[in-house]
Amino acid sequence: MKIYLNGEFVEKEDAKISVYDHGLLYGDGIFEGIRAYDGVVFKLKEHIDRLYDSAKSITLEIPMTKEEMEKVVVDTVKINNLKDAYIRLVITRGVGDLGLDPRKCPKPTIFCIAEPMNPLLGEDGIKVITSSVRRLPVDVLNPAVKSLNYLNSILAKIQANYAGVHEAFLLDSEGYVAEGTGDNIFVVKNGLIKTPPVSSSVLRGITRDTVIELAKELDIPIVEERLTLHELYVADELFITGTAAELVPVVEIDGRVINHGELGEITKKLSEEFKKIRKVMGTKVYE
Ligand code: PMP
Repeated sequence: MKIYLNGEFVEKEDAKISVYDHGLLYGDGIFEGIRAYDGVVFKLKEHIDRLYDSAKSITLEIPMTKEEMEKVVVDTVKINNLKDAYIRLVITRGVGDLGLDPRKCPKPTIFCIAEPMNPLLGEDGIKVITSSVRRLPVDVLNPAVKSLNYLNSILAKIQANYAGVHEAFLLDSEGYVAEGTGDNIFVVKNGLIKTPPVSSSVLRGITRDTVIELAKELDIPIVEERLTLHELYVADELFITGTAAELVPVVEIDGRVINHGELGEITKKLSEEFKKIRKVMGTKVYE
């Protein structure tokens, strides 16, 4: 397995970064989780755009054009002879001193990993709990920035682990439903799909946007609206989306069983369509 690290490809065992890297010392950096399906990197341009937006927001200057960054991703998949892969692209502030001042970090660290990975939470319906850990408010650290600060998601995941379920949902600071630890949330009631708006404490998921596009194409009504836990508890269908998890139905939340524990019709339809389009929507690795 070869890893891209600061301009070269190195073996996994040699892919090492400094203990003075501010990505490690302070979580000062950004990343993208991307997938390739059948030799096509799904929505690569959209991922790179989001990466550069995250970078701009935290004033991290990436010493590379977007086109060069796309090539890094494509080349990492290619050099490992992969067709289906999960790709992790990370840019940190780079090596500095022990203070937190980013001016001491002249050169960002850039690495890219590509390896095979099954859907993170399996493909069957999952059980979730609501975490007592709240999603970061937009005026603290905007979840729109895909930063290396994932501790609140990790603390929520630990609660899910203790509860013996697959995933935890986080509320925003006002008590409305935000997102999962690494995924967006959708609810279906009486044929209408709802998902929290990106202006609230959620990341604008690339999979989320894809599902919204698909629903519109399929003429299934969909709105972006703040959601309460009550709406999740009484949902006809509930599912989550994310690059690592893909599209997964939720069959139980906080002990309330959804749709008798069965896969709902709308979730099924969207999942099937998503599986079809993801092999063709994106950037080809092999010509
Ligand atoms: N929310 C959070 C907190 C995430 O980490 C992710 C995974 N990147 C998502 C939502 C889903 O985003 P995407 O569909 O772009 O993977």
